Parts: sequence; structure tokens; C-alpha cells
Amino acid sequence: MFKKILVANRGEIALRIQRACRELGVKAVMVYSEADREAKYVKLAEEAVCIGPAPSPLSYLNMPAIISAAEVTDAEAIHPGYGFLSENADFAERVEKSGFQFIGPTPESIRIMGDKVSAKQAMIRAGVPCVPGSEGELPDDPVQIRRIAKAVGYPVIIKAAGGGGGRGMRVVHTEAALVNAVQMTKAEAGAAFGNPAVYMEKFLQNPRHIEIQILADKHRNAVYLGERDCSMQRRHQKVIEEAPAPGIPRKLIERIGERCVAACKKIGYRGAGTFEFLYENGEFYFIEMNTRVQVEHPVTEWITGVDIVKTQIMVAAGEKLPFTQRQIEIRGHAIECRVNAEDPYKFTPSPGRITTWHAPGGPGVRVDSHAYTNYYVPPNYDSMIGKIIVHGDTREEALARMRTALSETVIEGINTNIPLHRELMVDAKFTTGGTNIHYLEEWLAHHKR
Ligand code: ADP
Repeated sequence: MFKKILVANRGEIALRIQRACRELGVKAVMVYSEADREAKYVKLAEEAVCIGPAPSPLSYLNMPAIISAAEVTDAEAIHPGYGFLSENADFAERVEKSGFQFIGPTPESIRIMGDKVSAKQAMIRAGVPCVPGSEGELPDDPVQIRRIAKAVGYPVIIKAAGGGGGRGMRVVHTEAALVNAVQMTKAEAGAAFGNPAVYMEKFLQNPRHIEIQILADKHRNAVYLGERDCSMQRRHQKVIEEAPAPGIPRKLIERIGERCVAACKKIGYRGAGTFEFLYENGEFYFIEMNTRVQVEHPVTEWITGVDIVKTQIMVAAGEKLPFTQRQIEIRGHAIECRVNAEDPYKFTPSPGRITTWHAPGGPGVRVDSHAYTNYYVPPNYDSMIGKIIVHGDTREEALARMRTALSETVIEGINTNIPLHRELMVDAKFTTGGTNIHYLEEWLAHHKR
């Protein structure tokens, strides 16, 4: 096992990784920008290094600063968390070339999966079902583009090969709008992701977002840890996640889970990863793979009893997975609400000083957050300030626990989306289960204020 790990991230995930290190008896070096001096995990840290000013290009995306922080503190490995440099193959490569272990897959795996076109091609080869669409990148020729769309069938969605975070996508309903939409998405993708390549998929009308969590070691062992339902989204960004997915037969989950495990073995994947699918009419369609720990990992931890972050560290250190597929049992139901510093209905960010922070507790309640009373939410980063996760024997019990937890939560000084979560937890459709990816947007449109 490593003696010391550098945590190259901020916010709740930095705290989560710090906790995992403590439990493993590994020292954690925390890095922080000038805006994050006051963060809880920095105050709790045995060692912390300032890596630059607030803007992330100068700090959390600053590869030389992070690598030299690892050098001066004698860390052996770097955990990238999620976001920032976690899916940057060049960073993973530089980390390893500098003599550190990158806690994640190989740079090659990150590179293949980071390009959605090559990811889909790899999945097709590995026997994982994908959304029907263009075979690879779209050509420039309008005639060919129209021919492809006709074959796929309208509506189609144009997606950037290098896209992420719900950006770089455009839905097209008619041939008249097609070529212009492709050109615009290309231009945007080039500017936003440095890669103008786009591809086409059939736009599924009423799918659910179902994803499979996997863990793999360096000895070609891999397991899947069941599924998560992340269909409650706004602007393609997840707001509520749960596990298991309501109403999907276990047999279907097992079949797709086994496909994912086989794909991991085929591509020599190691570490934690997530296969994201759209699910419609009993069929799964792969959309992308995330080669890192995800925000919503706690719901899976709760239903399986597996500590995903500790396991990431253990397999990076060369240990074998401490469990086999047969030992993974799904127990109960877990739900996560992302707590964002934003107006609950207009979604404008609401950074600033938290004057009161009262987190919920009790049986089956977990709060992952770096915030506290008097914590200042900097305006420079993502608005998520924490997550409330609950577990119950049944979905009904989990829902009741979430309602109780939300009623106990007091956050003052800034706006948060807690009022929105309170409403959604009593919404008839959501509480029934199985809402599709458009449901939250439609709900918001009908609940305009
Ligand atoms: P990102 O990497 O930006 O998160 P994804 O490919 O994972 O992009 O897609 C994000 C979300 O966009 C999905 O969860 C889904 O809501 C929507 N989406 C993506 N592809 C399709 C499609 N072919 N049909 C319908 N919705 C889609």
C-alpha cells in the first residue's frame, strides 16, 4: 500500500478521498487554490499545498503545479477525483512519467474512452450495444450527412466526440435543419473541447439514463456493482440519482453488467469506471464511459457495501479486488440529492458565505460535504456543495428518509436547491419511479414561478 497520496481535487470529493486515505492508514496531501484555503479538508489535512490562484486553469488544471506538489511532499500516487484533470490522458501520462501512480485507468484507456467516437467503436467490438447512429465521425459533405441521417431516422442528435458535462449536443428534427446544426455543433465543439469532430445518434424519445459501475484490478479481475438510475436531469446534468433502478428486471441488469465486465477485460481496464446507457423499451444503448469515480458513487456503495474510493486506491497499489462477482449482493435502496448553491428554480449560481449549516442525520443518512457554518462558497467552481444520500430497506423507506433528511437540513446565507428536492420527493411520478430523462425539465416547465 502507498504511504502517501496527493489528492488533486477540491470540494466534497477531496474530503471523500481524504477520508478513504485515513481509513487505509495512508497519508493524504491536499492541494488547494487561494480560494479554497478555508476548506474543511485543508484545515483537517496533515499536509496541504497551495497550487495557485482561484481560476482553475491556474490551480486545479495546472499540471506542473500539481506534479511539483507531489514531488515536494514525497507522495507516491495521485488521486484525480472527478472533473478537472481526472479524464485527461495527458495528465495521467505525465503523472506516470514523473514516477507517480495515477489512481485510475491507463492513459490509453482514458484516451480511447475520452473520444466518444473511439469509445463507441471499442464498445461495438466488445459486444456492448450502442445507440444506432453514424459509424464514426460525420463527414463534411452535406449530401453524405443527409444520407446518414435518413438511414438513422429523425429525430437525431449531433454530439461532439470530445464533449462532456452535458455540453456539445444538438437535437435535429428535420432534414432542413440538419446541415446547419452539424456545422454549428462542429464550431462549438472545436472552441469548447479543442476537437471539432462530431457524430450522429438516433435521438431516443423517452429513455432513462441507467449506468453500470465497474471496478477492475491490474490482474484482469473485474466486477460490476449493479446499476444506478440517473434520469432526473436538467440540461443533461444529473440532479438526483438512485440505486437500484426502479422496475428494471434483474435479469436485464445482469446481462448488461456481464457485458460491461467482459468489455473491461477485453480493453484491459483497471480502476473504477462507469458505463452509461440510455434504456428504452427493455433495451440498453451505450452512450459513453466515464473513466473515474463519479459524483453518485455513494448510492452504489450503500447498496453493495463496497467502498469504491478505497478500492480504487487498493487496486492502483496493485492489490487484487477483495471480492468476486458472486460476493456482490444488492441490499435495499439508496437515493442521492445533489445540493447546489443556486436558486432552486432559476438556477442562477449563489456563491457566498454560509451563515447556518445544519446537516441532517439519523439512521440511513449520509452527508458528503466540505461545507460548514461560516464556510464561504467561492464563485469560481461548480455550484455543487455537497450530497445527501439515504438508504432504506425499500425505495419507500429511502424516500421517507430523504424527506425527513431534507426537512432537517438548514442552509442559510446562500440559496440552495433544497426546496426543489423537497418538492420532487413528494412528486407523484417520481415517487412511483421510472421517470425518463426529460421528466425533470418538463416538471420545471410546468412549475414556473
Ligand atoms: P456528457 O458526456 O456530456 O454527459 P452523454 O453522452 O453522457 O454526454 O449524454 C448526456 C445526456 O444527454 C444523457 O444522459 C441523455 O440525457 C442525453 N442524451 C445523450 N445522447 C442521447 C440520445 N442519443 N438520445 C437521447 N438523449 C441523449
